[in-house]
Amino acid sequence: MSWLDAIQLRDLDAGARLELTCRNCGKVRFVTPAQLLALGDFGHLWLSEVQARARCKQRGCKGAMRLALPHRGETKGFVGGIA
Ligand SMILES: [Zn+2]
Repeated sequence: MSWLDAIQLRDLDAGARLELTCRNCGKVRFVTPAQLLALGDFGHLWLSEVQARARCKQRGCKGAMRLALPHRGETKGFVGGIA
């Protein structure tokens, strides 16, 4: 068990930044819970499940992703201001 198993997507601020890093090619992309929720009914997913479903979008890669919250705890109530 990790903290990824303790947080559901709907527990996060809609504008929180989730960092996804490809385990294969190292490509990093950022997503917000709002973006993921717009794709489907994912609010009940644990972050570990979100991570398991994420795939790299680099052409020809499709590698598994590692999910992290870069500023977890530090920017609560402040994340909306980060572009
Ligand atoms: Zn990749």
